[in-house]
Amino acid sequence: MAEPLFRRLALIGLGLIGSSIARAARARGGIAGEIVACDRNRAVRERVAELGIADRVEADPARAVAGADGVILCVPVGAFADVAATIAPALAEGAIVSDVGSTKQSVLRDVAPLLPPHVHFVPAHPLAGTEHSGPDAGFAELFEGRWSLITPPSGTDRNAIEKVAELWARLGSMVEIMEPGHHDRVLAIVSHLPHLIAFTICGTADDLADETRQQVLKFSASGFRDFTRIAASDPEMWRDVFLNNREALLEMLARFTEDAQAMARAVRWGDAGYIEDKIRRGRVIRRSLIELKQA
Ligand code: NAP
Repeated sequence: MAEPLFRRLALIGLGLIGSSIARAARARGGIAGEIVACDRNRAVRERVAELGIADRVEADPARAVAGADGVILCVPVGAFADVAATIAPALAEGAIVSDVGSTKQSVLRDVAPLLPPHVHFVPAHPLAGTEHSGPDAGFAELFEGRWSLITPPSGTDRNAIEKVAELWARLGSMVEIMEPGHHDRVLAIVSHLPHLIAFTICGTADDLADETRQQVLKFSASGFRDFTRIAASDPEMWRDVFLNNREALLEMLARFTEDAQAMARAVRWGDAGYIEDKIRRGRVIRRSLIELKQA
C-alpha cells in the first residue's frame, strides 16, 4: 500500500474542525498512518476515544506532537500563542506545523516566532464550517467541494506547502494559495462582517420591548431566522476572530455602514430606482454562488 501523506498526524483541539479532519482522514485513507488527538477538555477526550476517530488521545499538547511529522492547530485563534509555546520544544525535526484558524495575519504574528527553525510552518484555513461546535458536530464530508486557503509566509519550503495543499485536496477541498493580508480582507467581507451583523441584529431584536420580541420569534421565518443560524455560532471562537482581524473587519464595517446609510437615504426620499438596483445586485450575487456550487 502507498505511504500515507503523514506518518503521524497530531490534531490539537478536537472540536468541529479537528474532529472533522480526523473523521475525513479515517474515511478517505492515505492521509495519516496514525492520528493523535489532543484536547484540554476531558469530556472531549473521552468522547473522541468513544467515537474511535483517533489512534491515541492525549491531554498534553507536547506529548501529542512528539514524533509527529504533521501537526494541525484546531483551537480558537486566541489560544494559538499558548499552544505554540507549549509544543515548540517537543516538535520533531522537519515536522510540518499547520492550523485551521480563521484569521491568518494574527497566526503568523502569534505562532511563527515561537517555532524552532527545524520545522516548517504552513498556515491554512478551510472555508467550511457550521454553527455547531464540539467533537459531535464534526463530519467526514465537511470539506468536500469547499475551498481551503493556504497562506504560507514568504520563504516557506515549497515541499511543505505542497504537502499541506495535498492534505486539503485529499480531505476533499479545492485549494488556493493566498497572501495572509489578502486572506484577512477577503474573509472580513465574506465571513466576519456577516457574523458581526447577525450577532448585532439578534441583539437588537432581543433588546426590543417584550411584546415585540415575542412577535419576532413567532414570525421569524420572514428573514430573521436566517440570521439566527449564523448567530448561534461559538462565542469564544468568534470573539477571537473579531479581535484578531480588527483592522480589516473595521474597514469593511465602515464601508457597510456608509452603504447602509445610502440605503436609508433612498428609503427616506423614496428613491425607488436606487432600492431596486441594490436588490437586483443581491439576486445576481446569489445566482453566481449557485452557479459556482458554493450555495
Ligand atoms: P470548537 O468546536 O469550539 O472546538 C475548539 C476546541 O478547542 C475545543 O475542544 C476547545 O476545548 C479547545 N480550546 C478552546 N480554547 C482552548 C484553549 N485556550 N487552549 C486549548 N484548547 C482550547 O471550534 P471549531 O469550530 O472547531 O474551531 C477551531 C478553529 O477552526 C478555530 O481557530 C476557528 O477559527 C477555525 N475555523 C472554524 C470554522 C467554523 O465554522 N467553526 C471554520 C473554519 C475554521 P473546550 O471545550 O475546553 O473549550
